[in-house]
Amino acid sequence: MRQAARLSEDLETMNPLTCEQAVQQFFAYLDRALSGEPLEALEAHLEACLDCCDKLRFSRHLDAFVKARLPESRLPTDLDAKIRRVLRG
Ligand SMILES: [Zn+2]
Repeated sequence: MRQAARLSEDLETMNPLTCEQAVQQFFAYLDRALSGEPLEALEAHLEACLDCCDKLRFSRHLDAFVKARLPESRLPTDLDAKIRRVLRG
């Protein structure tokens, strides 16, 4: 019991971020907006936490997906303008 308690204390000192805090920083991390201590803390957490590693991989896909789709969201406006022009003859 004592050893387990001590072990988790050690982990906490080495790994001050909780999973929740780590996840909250994913998008800043993906945008390379993190630097210095927060970046080091997050990377240390990711090395130690498989769960967050998986979540980061998912967030990276999601981030890429959203960014890839952004230009497409302008398409309907262009189409709309084209259709109006055609209708006006
Ligand atoms: Zn975690």
